[in-house]
Amino acid sequence: MNRRHFSFGVVATSLIALSACGASPVTGSAASAADSASGEMSDHFAENGLGNAVAVIQHPAGEHLNGITYLSYQGPKEDPYVVSYNHEEREWSGPFKAGVSIMGKDPNRRKKIDNHGKPTMIIDNAGYIHVFFGGHGGLRELHGDNPRGNHHYGENKHVVSKRPLDITEWEELDTIPPFGTYNQVVKMDNGDMYLFYRHGAHRSDWVYHKSTDNGRTFGEPVSFLKHKRRTDMPAEDSWYPYVTKGMGDEIIVNFDYHLCWDNAGAPDARGHTANRQDIFYMVFDTGKNTWRNIQGELLPMPLTREVAEEKTLVARSGELWSFNGPVTLDNKGYPHIGITMGPDLGVSKTGGPKEMRHYRWTGSEWVGGKAGVLPIANGAIRADDPTDVRFVLASNDDGEGIVSWWDSKDGGQTFTKTRELLRRSSPSFAISSFIRNAHPDAQIMVAERLRGDDRRNMYLLGENGIVTRRKSETVQTQS
Ligand code: ZN
Repeated sequence: MNRRHFSFGVVATSLIALSACGASPVTGSAASAADSASGEMSDHFAENGLGNAVAVIQHPAGEHLNGITYLSYQGPKEDPYVVSYNHEEREWSGPFKAGVSIMGKDPNRRKKIDNHGKPTMIIDNAGYIHVFFGGHGGLRELHGDNPRGNHHYGENKHVVSKRPLDITEWEELDTIPPFGTYNQVVKMDNGDMYLFYRHGAHRSDWVYHKSTDNGRTFGEPVSFLKHKRRTDMPAEDSWYPYVTKGMGDEIIVNFDYHLCWDNAGAPDARGHTANRQDIFYMVFDTGKNTWRNIQGELLPMPLTREVAEEKTLVARSGELWSFNGPVTLDNKGYPHIGITMGPDLGVSKTGGPKEMRHYRWTGSEWVGGKAGVLPIANGAIRADDPTDVRFVLASNDDGEGIVSWWDSKDGGQTFTKTRELLRRSSPSFAISSFIRNAHPDAQIMVAERLRGDDRRNMYLLGENGIVTRRKSETVQTQS
């Protein structure tokens, strides 16, 4: 399947040379006096992030294995970049360019940065690092008919490290169709990998592919959320799921609904909008190859809107517009969902500001959704038990961007901001999902949105705040 063999240029050779010359390892907030004396430290690890360099939905964006955290993000020209951090040595490596996107190269394109093809990363059981990136529906003239939906831009790609746990060289594998976007990848306990994505632009099915050979080949796409023409209005059914590992052989999915108006048929002058609504949840039993709802009833696949509303509804959003967020399980196996909701202001195509809301399953019903307990924010969710819930959220506080932990001890009735990890005068941060098998010190990546500049400073954050890097290394990442 290795039809196209490429290796990509090394960006950070000088950094490797630095380490090889025996430069003192650099570190995070726990830097020793000797480290600090040997060079000025930077709070961010790279300066070549681009646009929305990370997001919650393209996940995992990184993985921790054997004391090293591997991270991927969108860099110059929308290409995927990879760095690694050795926790014991307190040493960074990279960034290295892992592949070439067909997006981000056309100066005449109206939307300068597409942002949909940012990388998703996972390490297979043989230690090879896989990155999926670059897609937003594909192009008819380049890729032909999309059998499961419509086109927009980009080309979904799969690259793998040439050697196990080595981020310096990459090759492209011909394993997946070009039409995908919003890649999400799950590895099961037996090593099977499931790649989920939307098979095209808005009017496309969501599909998964299964790999049983460490990602060297993937099976045919299987649709699990169906896009469909509505008969009652000039629009189509469309979806935004978040997919992650559940208990045992299970994969859990929460999703919201996109009412995809025809431009000409939309009810007001805005035409097509980002109108999204309602919250749903279902479970994929990969052992039995069946899907069920929270009550255990089997679901016919691919799921249609009619069945989703009847069998999988968590909550209606009413007049509010939603933007789907992450899902996790507590120690009883009950799901907790973070989803943002805000008003349709009637003028904006994307709606008004959306605050984070928390929903959870009690074993017999869905509860939560309370307004005013969490800020306008995006981020990641963790639940230690049904009442003990934590978010790490990127929000804005009085014009400044902040990233903070928010904890609840009462199952989401109230939340307290317990620790601020980062505050900058920049307006906001783009935030990732939790890094897979995260080291406590390195759980989340954020990209600092700089005023008047598409370039982003990239940060790695954990329980102890920021993982820093020697400034002389960080500055070089810009070139
Ligand atoms: Zn749409």
